Amino acid sequence: MVDISAIENSRRRIKEHIEPTPFVCSAVLSEICGVPVNLKLEHHQTTGSFKIRGATNAILRLTEAERARGVIAVSTGNHGRALAHAARAVGSKATICMSKLVPENKVSEIRRLGADVRIIGNTQDEAQEEVDRLVRDNGLVLLPPFDHPDIIAGQGTIGLEIVEAMPDVATILVPISGGGLAAGIAAAVKALRPQTRVIGVSMQRGAAMKASLDAGRPVLVEEVRTLADALGGGIGLDNKLTFAMCQTLLDDFVLLNESEIAAGIRHAYEKEREVIEGSGAVGVGALLASKIAGLHGPVAVLLTGRNIDMELHRRIVCGMNNPLEGEN
Ligand SMILES: *Cc1c(COP(=O)(O)O)cnc(C)c1O
Repeated sequence: MVDISAIENSRRRIKEHIEPTPFVCSAVLSEICGVPVNLKLEHHQTTGSFKIRGATNAILRLTEAERARGVIAVSTGNHGRALAHAARAVGSKATICMSKLVPENKVSEIRRLGADVRIIGNTQDEAQEEVDRLVRDNGLVLLPPFDHPDIIAGQGTIGLEIVEAMPDVATILVPISGGGLAAGIAAAVKALRPQTRVIGVSMQRGAAMKASLDAGRPVLVEEVRTLADALGGGIGLDNKLTFAMCQTLLDDFVLLNESEIAAGIRHAYEKEREVIEGSGAVGVGALLASKIAGLHGPVAVLLTGRNIDMELHRRIVCGMNNPLEGEN
């Protein structure tokens, strides 16, 4: 397991490269929920998501020789963009393998950062096969999106910032896919304040971590289109860290349907004046849908990313609840 000292070291390492993000009170959500609600604005990061923390930490840990070989990962978009950015900053080269499900706006940003982009198959698992081949044949260094100690430690730095800004935080809502973010945050927060509840939030359409926790072991789920596209994909049947950490550290797990995710995006835009992608809006969506049983405040909600296709965003804020319907 990744512990708080690894997370504190990671914070020192990435400090010069990454600004702490704002942590702001939401007057509207506080009123709706009857307890103080603060939003951690991780979508304000340079690459539009928190993933730059873990990617930067992992890249800075590599030796010169490893950086020269180049790095590689599978991605639903945001890790790829973060890794491409962090690799370029140290003069390394990133190769990012993605499935056809990754939205075009995310793919084009990764290309713009100079990465070698490969679109393979219809699922992350198929794209992962290309990653494994390039690691084997070309010696690229694997920096996966969540199941890696340096990635988890980097994402965990958010937990340190939350507890420092809100020492009495009672509940933290964390969007969850592979669980690197939730594992890192929970490891930091539970070490400092064990009574804080850390709750994972995901989509009903293909939440692999939830299915795996229910089964008691990593399982495969069908990958389908969802507004929370960054939360798609499996956790890896040979998961080494995040499954066990989430099993031990998470207090609860809630799932949202597509219109509840859309409501989160719409609320963030209209009431908080923030543009958020579906995956980043599930915490807000969970509060609006009253999905958290016995909610204790103060509450911290992570807004994790903003890399949504703006035409899709427009359709949602104009009132569409399920704009992807019919696309599967
Ligand atoms: C990657 C991502 C998540 C989930 O992070 P995991 O570490 O895979 O659980 C949540 N929101 C956004 C916007 C992401 O890009």
